[in-house]
Amino acid sequence: MARVMTDCRRFPSESNCSLVIIGEEDEVVRAATEHAISVHGHPDTPELREEVHSFIEPAEAYNPGPRAQEPMPG
Ligand SMILES: [Zn+2]
Repeated sequence: MARVMTDCRRFPSESNCSLVIIGEEDEVVRAATEHAISVHGHPDTPELREEVHSFIEPAEAYNPGPRAQEPMPG
């Protein structure tokens, strides 16, 4: 199974979070959901899991350099 990632640098956040999570999709969704709740203060809802799914990118898209921010979807 191909690995995927979520990259907090992609979206604006109050803490300017730089966390990247890479792993298999179910691992990334679980870790990113817990991270969104504990660090970014998102409510723990089914909608949050849907939102996390929409943040997923292929792991090959990872680039250690600076990244342009995109507006938060939705
Ligand atoms: Zn973050």
